[in-house]
Amino acid sequence: MSATATATATATVTDPLPVLVIGAGPVGLAAAAHLVERGLEPLVLEAGPVAGAAVREWSHVRLFSTWGEVTDPAAEKLLAPTGWVKPDAKTYPTGGDWAEKYLQPLADALGDKVRFGATVTGVSRAGRDRIVDADRETRPFVVHVAHADGREERLFARAVIDASGTWATPSPAGASGLPALGEKAAADRVTYRVPDLKDPAARARFAGRRTAVIGSGASAFTALASLADLAESEGGEGTKAVWILRRGISGSTFGGGTADQLPARGALGLAAKAAVDKGHADAVTGFRTEAIARDGDRLVLVAEDGRRLDPVDEVIVLTGFRPDLAFLDELRLALDERLQAPLALAPLIDPNQHSCGTVYPTASRSCPTRRRASTSSA
Ligand SMILES: Cc1cc2nc3c(=O)[nH]c(=O)nc-3n(C[C@H](O)[C@H](O)[C@H](O)COP(=O)(O)OP(=O)(O)OC[C@H]3O[C@@H](n4cnc5c(N)ncnc54)[C@H](O)[C@@H]3O)c2cc1C
Repeated sequence: MSATATATATATVTDPLPVLVIGAGPVGLAAAAHLVERGLEPLVLEAGPVAGAAVREWSHVRLFSTWGEVTDPAAEKLLAPTGWVKPDAKTYPTGGDWAEKYLQPLADALGDKVRFGATVTGVSRAGRDRIVDADRETRPFVVHVAHADGREERLFARAVIDASGTWATPSPAGASGLPALGEKAAADRVTYRVPDLKDPAARARFAGRRTAVIGSGASAFTALASLADLAESEGGEGTKAVWILRRGISGSTFGGGTADQLPARGALGLAAKAAVDKGHADAVTGFRTEAIARDGDRLVLVAEDGRRLDPVDEVIVLTGFRPDLAFLDELRLALDERLQAPLALAPLIDPNQHSCGTVYPTASRSCPTRRRASTSSA
């Protein structure tokens, strides 16, 4: 999940202050439910107007996890008295279902502990910038908030949990982690989202056209399968995908298939394979994108080794996400240097090891008292 960072102030000085949670997504709201369960006061600040604002941006995508895997036990306890009925644990929600049938009711159950339209733009120790050593452990956290109505506010907190996710900062097409040359200039033809091809505007954008899909994870599989469906549907004739892989194709390229621990995730890989097998997608392997060049009205992808592909009309970049740490700049964070994730979390989500990690609660274990920072000396 996100680069969730936790920082804790000394309890004695800050006891009456809330634990401030940044983001009302699945992680932030579950964190708030756990705080309530432990008798601590959470205050969740959410930039968007509703719960699960990021998840709602991919409302049309069906999760590969079942309902049974994407609700939290502490959250369920909070929801039970509201008459909430847990959806069938064996079925698969879409992003929209997840937000509407679970995250929003959970935010409603938390009531005024969740504030919307409140973007956190900075976190520090009150009266101590990151350079000052003296006495910082006893200082509460100060959180700068920009409200949707233009107001600014400073809030104090005994601890801060960053559950702001990574959705707003997708990784670029460039294989080195930097945008490819020309990538920004081609913004009108490049998207970093799985398109909703049931939406008429998105359909019109991709139908009958040639689209490069860069990436090799579940989102890329979903995009390839959707483009293949479009190609086979009325009005979608001529739709073609060019699938750009940085690596070669091996036994694991399409995921675990029927042996995948998560059957729906395995099915996504098989759907992508079917798109290739049926000729709806041409796989280009070992292609590390260096540049996206204009060719009249079309785009040409150029690799680090100089290869140039035939022009495409659109580019879908699905190369993952990175945390935005800018608003945590004034804190002293101990993060894994590769993944920019908390140290205890990093091995569980390392893409060098897992296609999609399994994450156990970390902060509660490494932070047994309210005084210790699990991931930050802050
Ligand atoms: C297409 C797609 C399919 C997926 N399918 C699955 C799946 O099947 N199974 C699974 O386990 N995972 C899946 N995931 C991953 C899963 O959605 C994420 O791991 C999960 O949403 C992370 O939750 P989060 O609360 O950390 O972050 P988010 O869901 O990103 O929520 C973060 C929230 O913080 C808010 N925010 C951001 N910055 C600020 C700020 N500065 N101030 C205030 N608020 C802020 C955002 O508006 C947002 O509401 C999928 C992801 C995608 C994109």
